Amino acid sequence: DDSWLSLPNPFGVPVDICAGPGVPLEPAAIDELLTVLETADTLRALAQATPGLAEEPRIDRVVCTPDFHKGAGIPIGTVLRTTGALIPQAVGNDINCGMRVEVTALTLDRVRPHLDALERRLRHLFFEGGRQIGLTPAQREGLLRGGLPGLLAEPVRREGAWRHVTDDENTDRLHGAGYPVGSAADFRDWVTSGGGTSYDSIIGSVGGGNHFAELQYVSKVHDGATAYAWGLAPGRIVSMVHSGSLSLGHQANGTGREQAKAMWPRGVPVPANRILPMLVDDATKDRRERYLTAFANAANFAVGNRFFLSLMMRAGLADLGEVEPRLVYDAPHNLMWPDGDSVVHRKGATPAGPSGVDGWGEPVIVPGSMGAPSHLLRGLGNAKALASACHGAGRSVPRGAASRGSDADLDAFLEEFRVVTPLNHRDPAITARRDVIEAWRRDLKQEAPWAYKEVGPVVDSLRTAGVAEPVVELTPILTVKG
Ligand code: 5GP
Ligand code: MN
Ligand code: MN
Repeated sequence: DDSWLSLPNPFGVPVDICAGPGVPLEPAAIDELLTVLETADTLRALAQATPGLAEEPRIDRVVCTPDFHKGAGIPIGTVLRTTGALIPQAVGNDINCGMRVEVTALTLDRVRPHLDALERRLRHLFFEGGRQIGLTPAQREGLLRGGLPGLLAEPVRREGAWRHVTDDENTDRLHGAGYPVGSAADFRDWVTSGGGTSYDSIIGSVGGGNHFAELQYVSKVHDGATAYAWGLAPGRIVSMVHSGSLSLGHQANGTGREQAKAMWPRGVPVPANRILPMLVDDATKDRRERYLTAFANAANFAVGNRFFLSLMMRAGLADLGEVEPRLVYDAPHNLMWPDGDSVVHRKGATPAGPSGVDGWGEPVIVPGSMGAPSHLLRGLGNAKALASACHGAGRSVPRGAASRGSDADLDAFLEEFRVVTPLNHRDPAITARRDVIEAWRRDLKQEAPWAYKEVGPVVDSLRTAGVAEPVVELTPILTVKG
């Protein structure tokens, strides 16, 4: 069928690519994927060096989503199911990067006349010391060990952005609300920093580049029944947050690399693709658990950080009326889901299960760009797709090339799409730092709307392939970029 291509390969792994008409496939991404598949041979070598394994380690299946493009080592948009092994690199560096969407009671008509004031408030909240999210060591620990439910189980002082927390934060609507884990040992410093309630610069920061916090409105409804069930009436203001685990994810990956090297059998050479899988066997259990705990701590932090970013968006909107925020979904797109001896890894791909919490299908969040609509779909649980969909339009211009765009073009799109960035910072100590400003500008040039694929054909591929059905479109009105 038109929406699926299978990729023959010498490693015997079933590989299917979801891409309908009008979705360009990048040859460099296919080459990169073929390199990744060499890991099937690595697993055979590991099995030979490790007698007595209960299950033969293997890659069961690989699926590529329509936003598939070259990454660093493993393409973005790769879903990989293994048995008897897990592959830390197949999650992506930014552990539990994801999208969170809330719909509000405010409408475009109410908000549009006040965009200048709203922009000033958001700039203050995000970049000029306005965020004020204090956390106690118990809250930090609760977050890392139990995700958002763990954080909210601790008492909250309603001040700063915390004033906008509601009594019902719908933690059942988070795909990965919490990985309950026994410790936060790798992050002891972060948990105890500051002693009592403390404010640090990491909580509530967006993270650079492709991450964002965006205000949008419901501009088109494709599936009225589902839209109604999710509270998405035409004209409603929505906030969409894209962020990950910031420095905690990088630290957890460090733990992963250390443990993978330490458990690597002496007789097996380090593979040319430098991907080091971990066998799921008893002999390596402690090292694997050490990594999975750090991984879960970082994943839990990311869910919390997206929640804080949403609180800041609520704080920005609060002067315009009752916000009455309602969570549509929090969807991770860099994560693994261990399931017995098997593991589904998604790197830049989002779950698209059949039911979701309310039976309408799991919400699938597909952002376009700061200049193009984003889409919400409902997942259909397609087994061929490993119940997975794309997590964006995907890049069409590689980062390097995009960062060489012109300064005039950058200034034009920042203005046109009302982009709130730390560039507009009024602090002379920062504006004097030309090198910092230049780095920011290069980073932002990579985010030009023309650097991303057209989102329409990407979403059509999901529909025609039977992966997800479109529910609504969301048009951006203001974008906060880290
Ligand atoms: P990632 O960076 O996690 O691989 O993908 C994020 C996706 O978000 C991209 O594929 C792109 O479609 C989308 N995106 C990037 N920047 C923005 C933005 O500023 N606003 C919106 N709405 N989408 C964006
Ligand atoms: Mn990320
Ligand atoms: Mn991401």
